[in-house]
Amino acid sequence: MPDPFRYDVWSALLADIVTPEGKVDYARLAEHRGLLERVVAELGAASPESDPGRFPSEEDRLAYWLNAYNAFTLHAIIAEYPITSVWKTRDGQFFQRRRHVAGGRAVSLDDIEHEILRGQFAEPRIHFAINCGSNGCPPMRPAAYEGARLRETLRAAAEQFLSGEWNLRIDHAARRIFISRIFKMYAGDFAGEAGTTEEYRRGVLRFVARHTGVAFERIADYEVVYNVYDWGLNDAARTPHLGPILFHEPVEHFAEGDTELRELHLYEGNFCNRTCAWCTINGSPQGWYERYSPAVLDQALATLAPDGNLKFYGGEPTLHAEEITRAIRYVRERGFRGLVTIFSNGVKAERLIDILESDARSEAVLNYSIYHGRDAEPLPPHAKARLEAWAAAHPGRIFQGYKVLFHAGSGADLPYDRDREADFHGLGTGCVRCFPVLTTKGRFHACPFAAEIEAPHYDLGRVGTDPQVVFRNYRSFRRWVDEVLDPEARARGVTSCQMCHRHLAELAAPAYER
Ligand code: SF4
Ligand code: SF4
Repeated sequence: MPDPFRYDVWSALLADIVTPEGKVDYARLAEHRGLLERVVAELGAASPESDPGRFPSEEDRLAYWLNAYNAFTLHAIIAEYPITSVWKTRDGQFFQRRRHVAGGRAVSLDDIEHEILRGQFAEPRIHFAINCGSNGCPPMRPAAYEGARLRETLRAAAEQFLSGEWNLRIDHAARRIFISRIFKMYAGDFAGEAGTTEEYRRGVLRFVARHTGVAFERIADYEVVYNVYDWGLNDAARTPHLGPILFHEPVEHFAEGDTELRELHLYEGNFCNRTCAWCTINGSPQGWYERYSPAVLDQALATLAPDGNLKFYGGEPTLHAEEITRAIRYVRERGFRGLVTIFSNGVKAERLIDILESDARSEAVLNYSIYHGRDAEPLPPHAKARLEAWAAAHPGRIFQGYKVLFHAGSGADLPYDRDREADFHGLGTGCVRCFPVLTTKGRFHACPFAAEIEAPHYDLGRVGTDPQVVFRNYRSFRRWVDEVLDPEARARGVTSCQMCHRHLAELAAPAYER
């Protein structure tokens, strides 16, 4: 019988570099780099795939891949240290690049997490054992995972994670649960093969009940709010956050079994105080603007889930800040209790803050390029300082948007730096499948990036259209993206956004219900 795989060196190293809070002392790790190299070499020489006899039980196999994920993560970080986040590595391919070997096979962190751990082991608690080097991750364990008693170890890890206030806070008075974004990112792992957003929500609550001792019946109808994920490096030598304004992540995702929209954009036109070269909707001071009418807001209320996400964009919404505040008040008075998001360039900082202060469940997302002054005129310093000060005092209310620029609108043919391209970040070149838009002109449009393109391909309905018809049309649109738009773009070697903005007329539109 072959020798079982041993983790003695890995355990000794972890005991030395992991702090009591589960952070990593990277300076010390750098001093012991030779030990980490040895661990990586051991993992590279044998795995459950190459030497199954050394991993007799399922727990032995699972433990190997958990250890491999964590060791390879530290190895990838230390190669670039000092960095402030795993998203700030030189090639931007932290999770995608196959830079390690496991039992002779080249693997990426994504391969281990998605294909092996999630794909081969039906064990949701892996998410409390793997650590991708970020503050939002569970604490790093100061010892290797071992096959023996692994399930108990994972149960303890889940309970420890959920005992942290940042990861789980139950507000019984407000009947609301604030929980880590991990439960949103991997909802299917926790809830099983649920079909709808509501089933996912209940599945997540069941998991919480099982691991906290809170009765499921008590929390079954509580609203679930997913916390922001902190991607700052889990570095013992640094403060936990990247800065006052973190990256924004969408709260809602399309679930196959849903029957209503979980998210809706509201678009007031492309009138703007900036003219960004790459603006997807050609925003400028020459753009159009139309105010929100009760008919449009009533239609939004009828079409969007009452606990969904309503997203205001333009153009620049702060140029009509009172209208936005009024519109938010209007939907609140009529029962909308979900999240309100304002996309803004932040130039009119004071007006943006006024909007946020008018509604406790609102957030703002600043344009990345303008916030950083990259490929765009920067924010005026006083506006930036004001927004950062307010954000520091109000965590989770102001974010920065994504770094990626899309080849849409004014930017359809522009060359971008490599690290601003979607595929650089593992997002591919296909359609990002946003939730749809309702414009102040009363039209449902399938894509917020293409809102200025009038074409039957995007025409999901208008004010007065039955919300169920709008929803079914949106499904048809997504099918069309899968079956027509993305394959056609791939065949031509262009991005799907370029396909929409340059070659749309060559594609047959989906057959929508009218
Ligand atoms: S990207 Fe935003 S700030 Fe820039 S022109 Fe477009 S709407 Fe205005
Ligand atoms: S591919 Fe088309 S539909 Fe998809 S995000 Fe780009 S412009 Fe919108």
